[in-house]
Amino acid sequence: MRQTKRWYLKNDTTYNQEALIEAANLLTSGETVAFPTETVYGLGADATNETAIMKIFQAKGRPQDNPLIAHVATKEQLLKLVDGLPAYAEKLVDQFSPGPLTFVLPENGTCAANVTAGLSTIAVRIPDHPVAQQLLKQCNIPIAAPSANISGKPSPTTAGHVWTDLQGKISGLIDGGPTGVGVESTVIDCTQDIPTILRPGGITREQLEAVVGRVGVDPALTNKTDRPKAPGMKYKHYSPEMPMWLVAGSARKIQEVVDKERSKGQRIGVLASLETAEKINADEVMSLGKEMDEITANLYTGLRTYKSNDIDMIICEAFPETGIGEAVMNRLKKAASIYIRD
Ligand code: AMP
Ligand code: MG
Repeated sequence: MRQTKRWYLKNDTTYNQEALIEAANLLTSGETVAFPTETVYGLGADATNETAIMKIFQAKGRPQDNPLIAHVATKEQLLKLVDGLPAYAEKLVDQFSPGPLTFVLPENGTCAANVTAGLSTIAVRIPDHPVAQQLLKQCNIPIAAPSANISGKPSPTTAGHVWTDLQGKISGLIDGGPTGVGVESTVIDCTQDIPTILRPGGITREQLEAVVGRVGVDPALTNKTDRPKAPGMKYKHYSPEMPMWLVAGSARKIQEVVDKERSKGQRIGVLASLETAEKINADEVMSLGKEMDEITANLYTGLRTYKSNDIDMIICEAFPETGIGEAVMNRLKKAASIYIRD
């Protein structure tokens, strides 16, 4: 057990500057620090230092074969980590970086071998959060930063989530309030003739297609028999404390499932859009919000809210798989043990 230093950022720029310098010093000296990005909180370490990267895997309990995303502040720094950039990838970098889009490109040996889990490609992202940007500029090295949660649990969208999972296991936590998007970045493979989505995320397929035309999707995303090209996608993820069922259809359909399970003595917590939540009667009901963007931002807090002392099972509404809904449903299907659709 070690002491985890927590900096609460405020509107005091002098304090914030001192906190960021202290955090950057820990990172450049090989320690782990969690920080907010616009997607979820990341757990950072020096991407060029193999020993520092090992600390990320240890703290999270992350499988060794699941490579990390290297975070940099600028396009110039991104170019220093990769062996060339196809024309379409450059278009995507110019259009969506900084932002929630991660590029898988041929690597050039700058990052430590355990960042890429021994692959010949590296995943790189330029985050758009002001704290992440300032921290990366202050460090001036690539920072590998997977989501700052215990592997298998829902990703952290508040500093409180990080504290619950990793307090005592990491050196620092920059508390910059809740993150924005609420789901992880889109991971796009840029090593083939056309870009291919390996993980749906903060930048939607429609947004990508508007810039580069045709975009492929890793067959493993829709078909369980293929082996995913993003090694992390094969793992079960985002699991709440108790079993979760995903239910498609009207509020009435969801209510039927809730009633049936309650009649067996199960205590049911429901996660749904505001519109559906208002119509549902269960042991506990939590609205994730009105519009899809709000539902996305509240998703992981929703999955973490129910405690096994109070609730035996979560029933969650299924959402349309368009726009950001593609990323939300990708996470919910992984979290759920059963998907009921008519
Ligand atoms: P995380 O940062 O934990 O949200 O996960 C990063 C995702 O990117 C995981 O699914 C990884 O398997 C994937 N990833 C990282 N590096 C690569 C790579 N070089 N090739 C393919 N997928 C990658
Ligand atoms: Mg993760």
